[in-house]
Amino acid sequence: MRVANLGGRLVLVDGSRALDVATASGGQFDADPQRIYPRWDEFREWFSGVELHGSPYAPGSLRSPVPAPGQVFAIGLNYRAHADETGLARPETVPPVFTKFPACIAGPYDDIAIPSGGHVDWEVELVAVIGRTAWRVAAADAWSHVAGLTVGQDVSERILQMAASPPQFSLGKSYPGFGPLGPVLVTPDEFEDPDDLGLECSIDGEVVQSGRTSQMIFPIGALIEALSAVVELRPGDVVFTGTPAGVGMGRVPARYLAAGELLVSSIEGIGTLRNRMVAART
Ligand code: ZN
Repeated sequence: MRVANLGGRLVLVDGSRALDVATASGGQFDADPQRIYPRWDEFREWFSGVELHGSPYAPGSLRSPVPAPGQVFAIGLNYRAHADETGLARPETVPPVFTKFPACIAGPYDDIAIPSGGHVDWEVELVAVIGRTAWRVAAADAWSHVAGLTVGQDVSERILQMAASPPQFSLGKSYPGFGPLGPVLVTPDEFEDPDDLGLECSIDGEVVQSGRTSQMIFPIGALIEALSAVVELRPGDVVFTGTPAGVGMGRVPARYLAAGELLVSSIEGIGTLRNRMVAART
């Protein structure tokens, strides 16, 4: 199933048509997309029996399928070639974890403002959305706690990200618009192998990142095991799972995003984010 946020309302998407969940369920489920996650098991049972007789919709009206996550986890250096391009050691036993503060979450087609003087970089990432409380979950049981997958961009302002000693990533990755998600959430059963999806990032049509999620050092099962060993993961939380090689800071010379450029982030079987970079807000 493909689940989305159409202009602030929860919908099921089938090709070019969308079905409003609150209306089609006769009010059984709320229209607010964030409020569906604590009821995911019940929701899944309902939508598995529903007839998808939706109406045509404007794709440009899609917003983040997870507009207000309680917790936003992000994983650093989870692809070997990306770890190598940063000059940092590849993680071996524990994934490096930081947060993006939830206020940075944005829609799939929102503009992203470049902070004045900032070095803004791109990181296309697969994002897992939690659909069932996870506490001390083993990797083998992890997927049953995932509502679905979506595309994310872990947009990063590198100067602030590295400014503190030791570096504290979270603030530099949490400016307004720095966490676009979407365009839809896709349930794991829709994929032949949800652990092996192609992902790509381009700027004005030039491909800058291209990889497969099967290249992760810690796949989604291992990440949920490691995170839930410490923190209770709750429905509607999201996990940015790391980015493949090809970010701007790893280039010689380094390259950063400029106002006017179009950042396009795609994952096979899910869809594409299109975010225009705009000048600093004043
Ligand atoms: Zn990242």
